[in-house]
Amino acid sequence: MLTRLLTWSIIAGIALAGGLKAHKDGKLIVWSQWFQEWMKGEDQAYSSVRFEVDLVDRLNYARIGAKVPILRVDAELETWLESQFPGMVLDDVNLITQQVQEAMPRYFRLSICTAGGPTLRALLDQFQDYTQSTGAEMTHLACAVRRSTGGFSYQALLVVGQRLEDFSPEMLTNTSNEAFFSTCPHCQHPHIVRVSRQQHSLGLECPQCRRTYAVVAADAAGKYRYVNEFLTGYAPPAVFAKDHSRVHELFTIWAAVHSNCVYTKDPGLKKEATDAWQTSLETQQKGLGDCEDSAIFLCDWLLSRGFQARVALGRYGDMGGHAWVVVKLDDKEYLLESTEGRPDPSNPPLVSRVGSRYVPEIMFDRYALYVRSTPGQSWKGDYWSSKIWTRVEPRSLKSRLRPTSLESAKSDPTTESAGGRIARTSRPNPAVAPFMELEEIPKDASVWQMPLSLGQEKPGS
Ligand SMILES: [Zn+2]
Repeated sequence: MLTRLLTWSIIAGIALAGGLKAHKDGKLIVWSQWFQEWMKGEDQAYSSVRFEVDLVDRLNYARIGAKVPILRVDAELETWLESQFPGMVLDDVNLITQQVQEAMPRYFRLSICTAGGPTLRALLDQFQDYTQSTGAEMTHLACAVRRSTGGFSYQALLVVGQRLEDFSPEMLTNTSNEAFFSTCPHCQHPHIVRVSRQQHSLGLECPQCRRTYAVVAADAAGKYRYVNEFLTGYAPPAVFAKDHSRVHELFTIWAAVHSNCVYTKDPGLKKEATDAWQTSLETQQKGLGDCEDSAIFLCDWLLSRGFQARVALGRYGDMGGHAWVVVKLDDKEYLLESTEGRPDPSNPPLVSRVGSRYVPEIMFDRYALYVRSTPGQSWKGDYWSSKIWTRVEPRSLKSRLRPTSLESAKSDPTTESAGGRIARTSRPNPAVAPFMELEEIPKDASVWQMPLSLGQEKPGS
């Protein structure tokens, strides 16, 4: 009897407090409903699973009405939420947002809503306003329900967010997304990549270790690929004299590339935009291209002939972005300027002789990208040192979620959350990957128009 009385007094207290609030909200019906359900035990039938299904339905009905894509339940987020929610303090929604952001770095935007109610049905109604106003850019959700201390009410946490796809050139091509998720292959730091689609080439730099780990560029059709994949393995059908030296072959190929690739700037592009990239075959067929097109053409051909060659991207003097080719042959390092005058074998372009104005930031061959191991370190002209350069294979990029280092919020069993809704929308979390600009080389670069039959030209003649 004592227990019964105590229970009733607690219920009366809750009913009074809730009733005042509910009266204000015009939701007295909720309390009578709860009372009936409590008496009949109907709440048992309306399970938390049902509640979650109904909540998702309400959210998505509203979204269908607003003609925005529906939200999907994120199993990963749901699992995390189920493990964390029992101990979470609901007072501070900012803290909850921060916890979710740390545990789920893949989320670009987050919207968190907590609510409490005497019954699950009442709880569902508490979310009513929120379910009508989720942002169009949101993609996934997860929710968790628990009984409050004492067991007379329920509390729920709803997380709606914009879950990012893993970065890849294909995703960049096939979606209009401007933010992606990525994990730095150097330091494993998970982060968000923001891209500017006005640019045709862009470098991804880790916001933690500041090292570049991928560079992508778009072709004329707007299809992005990792820059090393512009080296497709193409070599023109040339015939080389058998009695010529390797240096002679190097110069022959170099001469042929210049003479068959008229230096041009892409027309019709804004000054700040970089141009579409071409493969070797495209450059050969068009007979024109700019610095990276001719460098790719030259490098691909050299690689096909077994040379140790890389395309270098970086700065040339004060002229801004540029591309050139470096070759290592018989312990000598050559720097081949694919857009300039005809090579002179009597005056070979050794890096030590011609390289002073060239400052590379990135190099690549067919399979890998080579990035500076220490960003910002002054350039001393070493193109092949494994201390200066770190090799990255862009296709090995995997998204790996960092193990959750989050300390679960220690619950205070005496803490009861407010009965009403608390909703908060986090700001976007932009870890911006800066751009790598690749402008054309010197404006007065000469135009080569002399036709040359491949493989027959003798360099310097
Ligand atoms: Zn990093």
